[in-house]
Amino acid sequence: MGADLSSATRNRQLQYLQAMGIQAWELRLSAAELPAVEPATRDATEMVALPDEVAGQSVVSGFDWEMLQAGVEACTLCELHSSRTRTVFGVGNRNADWLLIGEAPGRDEDQQGEPFVGRAGQLLNAMLQAVGLQREQVYIANILKCRPPNNRDPRPQEVACCEPYLMRQIDLIQPGLILALGRIAAQNLLNSETPIGKLRGRVHQFRDTGIPLIATYHPAYLLRSPLEKRKTWQDLQLAVETLRGQG
Ligand code: URA
Repeated sequence: MGADLSSATRNRQLQYLQAMGIQAWELRLSAAELPAVEPATRDATEMVALPDEVAGQSVVSGFDWEMLQAGVEACTLCELHSSRTRTVFGVGNRNADWLLIGEAPGRDEDQQGEPFVGRAGQLLNAMLQAVGLQREQVYIANILKCRPPNNRDPRPQEVACCEPYLMRQIDLIQPGLILALGRIAAQNLLNSETPIGKLRGRVHQFRDTGIPLIATYHPAYLLRSPLEKRKTWQDLQLAVETLRGQG
């Protein structure tokens, strides 16, 4: 926490730490340095104007895996915490070349605390096997760590609150390639509103990281539209070639 941060930024950071139930800040900040918690009567526009991902990013950027997972498990930053059964942090090889990012936990994932364990997950496992990969070799995460009620689309505020956790995971993994599964993941990761049918089939770059990103259809969509599996197969081939080109 730099001394030059505005009080609004520090307040938002403090909210992250408090929402994650993290006491570590007490060690880093003396009582005199602690910002006053935003009074309820204050004009809320200042809080709204500060992007959650900016405040959260600076809080979690130094976290190791254990701190990050503990922070996610305790997180109460958005409303989804009140309806979740379990948080769904992510699973797999923390040194993976392949990072797969889906949308959000569904019912099975919410129960089991692991991404892609339902029917869509079984198809995802089969897709991976088709390119010679075991599930354990890749890392799998979602845009959101908590299930939206009735599997509705994630709301922008939920995505913004959750984004710092995913960004830190990406930073820790340093994957060779990101595979975005479905419209929600692809559009959020690419900051785009282009339909998934137009985002897929080519190599993007993930923000300014230099990490190649390939978007493809969501396995749940493929269960409903099996004829599109051919295009996903092409996207997976493109991913394999892209990684091969790096090595
Ligand atoms: N769909 C997703 O996007 N993610 C999951 O973890 C499960 C289903």
